[in-house]
Amino acid sequence: MTTTKHDLLIKNGKLVDPSQKLHALRDIAFADGKVAAIEQDIPSDSALETIDAKGQIVTPGLIDLHVHAFWGSSAYGVLPDPVNVAKGVTTILDAGSSGARTFPGFRHYVIDQAVTRTFALLNISSAGMISESHVGELEDLRWAEVDKAITVARQNRDVVPGIKVRLGKLQSGENTVESLKRAIEAAEAIDGFVMSHIGACPVPIEELVAMMRPGDVVTHAFHGIGDRIANLDGVLPGILEARERGVLFDVGHGMGGFSFDTAERALAAGFVPDSISTDLHIFNVEGPVYDLVTTLSKFIHLGMSLDDVIERSTISAAKIMGLKGGYGTLAVGAIGDAAILTLDEGRFTLNDRLSQALNIGGMTWQKPTAVEATRKLNHVSTVIGGQVYRPWLGHRP
Ligand SMILES: [Zn+2]
Repeated sequence: MTTTKHDLLIKNGKLVDPSQKLHALRDIAFADGKVAAIEQDIPSDSALETIDAKGQIVTPGLIDLHVHAFWGSSAYGVLPDPVNVAKGVTTILDAGSSGARTFPGFRHYVIDQAVTRTFALLNISSAGMISESHVGELEDLRWAEVDKAITVARQNRDVVPGIKVRLGKLQSGENTVESLKRAIEAAEAIDGFVMSHIGACPVPIEELVAMMRPGDVVTHAFHGIGDRIANLDGVLPGILEARERGVLFDVGHGMGGFSFDTAERALAAGFVPDSISTDLHIFNVEGPVYDLVTTLSKFIHLGMSLDDVIERSTISAAKIMGLKGGYGTLAVGAIGDAAILTLDEGRFTLNDRLSQALNIGGMTWQKPTAVEATRKLNHVSTVIGGQVYRPWLGHRP
């Protein structure tokens, strides 16, 4: 007779955990909110609840390195739980929806309430992203309050790993270089990293990445507007040099921050993303992004393996964020977060962009592209803190 020692057991699933180079049929058990055991056969009577994941994939809880979750304050915000933990994403990084003057509300009303484990990059503009670039948050540098950002980030360092800056004609305009300088200054003071949105920029992208430090992140790296990371000859020398120095390149799909054409060029040159994120917000959650598993499916369509895309949305993202305590891994003792997924076969239309507009602020966009994929990752259920996420039962871990 076995004694009941686990809260939850997932049997017969294919465990895909790049942190342990694991891709095999295994049973996995959870107890006290943590991963308790991974074995070939764990008896069902050892757990209070058993799930059969035959034919399904079990991964660490997914981490989305770029989302917008400050609903009600930022024009971009969506509530975190319905689009993240409900879709297999147990940890998110909000990328600059709030700044020093709005962060306390974000912490109180969202971060401290959400089931999804929510972290935030503080926008170097202390207003955060209150408008959809109707007025750029850095068009007036009085908003780029370095001292305020440092103070608020230090007070909330447990959930603030760094600083966000949006560099673009509509966000920073003539203040682009100075905005990046100030973001780096604040990040240095808190020993954090900078994530830069670089798109439709008045300053050449190579000039901006040259200012960035090892561990800093370029998001929307595969966008298709104006100055791109790759031209017909391949990836730009300044981009390769930055990667060599340790600057990181994130997807940040967004409404217009991802282009199949750019991604194909980059991947053909062996330039794969360091992390795969959605930039999920109110203007793309109903398409073309939908969720993280759809974004991962686009990179599977482009030729990356299942293990490679899962790595970039689990352990790689955890490392970029500097998360300690077992995020992005199913190692025994890690936090008990997992996603149960299927890799389905069929015909699936995947879009990089829905808008037909080819011009924004005088810069030319790539035409929107739809591809017919033959495989797509889909979400089945989520485990968070060692429990199946069941919002219909009033789930609070
Ligand atoms: Zn964003």
